[in-house]
Amino acid sequence: MSAFLFDPPRLPSVAVVGEPATYPIRRIFCVGRNYVAHAAEMGGTVDREAPWYFTKSAFSVCHSGETVPYPPGTENFHHEMELVVALGAPVFKCDIKTAAAAVFGYGCGLDMTRRDRQQDGKDNRRPWDLGKDIENGAVLAPLHKAGDVGPLAGKRIHLSVNGAVRQDADLADMVWSVPEVISHLSHYYHLGQGDLIMTGTPAGVGPVVAGDVLTGGIDGLGDIAHTLGPSE
Ligand code: MN
Repeated sequence: MSAFLFDPPRLPSVAVVGEPATYPIRRIFCVGRNYVAHAAEMGGTVDREAPWYFTKSAFSVCHSGETVPYPPGTENFHHEMELVVALGAPVFKCDIKTAAAAVFGYGCGLDMTRRDRQQDGKDNRRPWDLGKDIENGAVLAPLHKAGDVGPLAGKRIHLSVNGAVRQDADLADMVWSVPEVISHLSHYYHLGQGDLIMTGTPAGVGPVVAGDVLTGGIDGLGDIAHTLGPSE
């Protein structure tokens, strides 16, 4: 095998509760509009024909508890609190039952968003990359193995900014269930170990500014914390 011209970047990973080894991250898929109330606050409706997606680079990951700079290129940086699903087995064109069995674990995540750049994309019929694929813009808390997590329906998902609750919903409110999303996405990708899915955000998204402290959680999946420092 040829040598690399320079040291390759270290593969991003996320901790797993109760495991000394970490979960290496390959890809991050994100579901758009998976809660009716959030779709409404964005001025849209849920597409009940099929879920749809955008992606974030694995190298956009940062970890719960970190302080990161307020990002460049936005004046309307939003929080989106989400359930994160980590895959543990290969699936391709799979049914719902096979999809459910392919889940490695779950965690809390923040799909941080340049809302102004996302709106530019919508207005000009251009991609959302500048709005969504943001350095340090995929915030991940440690994963919990699926076998340690009970049914998702009934679990509260919530986010506060500086202690004031902004987002507060139930995972039962998701339009597309986790197995439905995995099954659908598996008709476009060979999914497997290292693939994460951010499953969409409930209503209550809003702007954050330098100095803000974001704290949230999902019942049974622990907490997430994220602090925004000054811009660079
Ligand atoms: Mn999102």
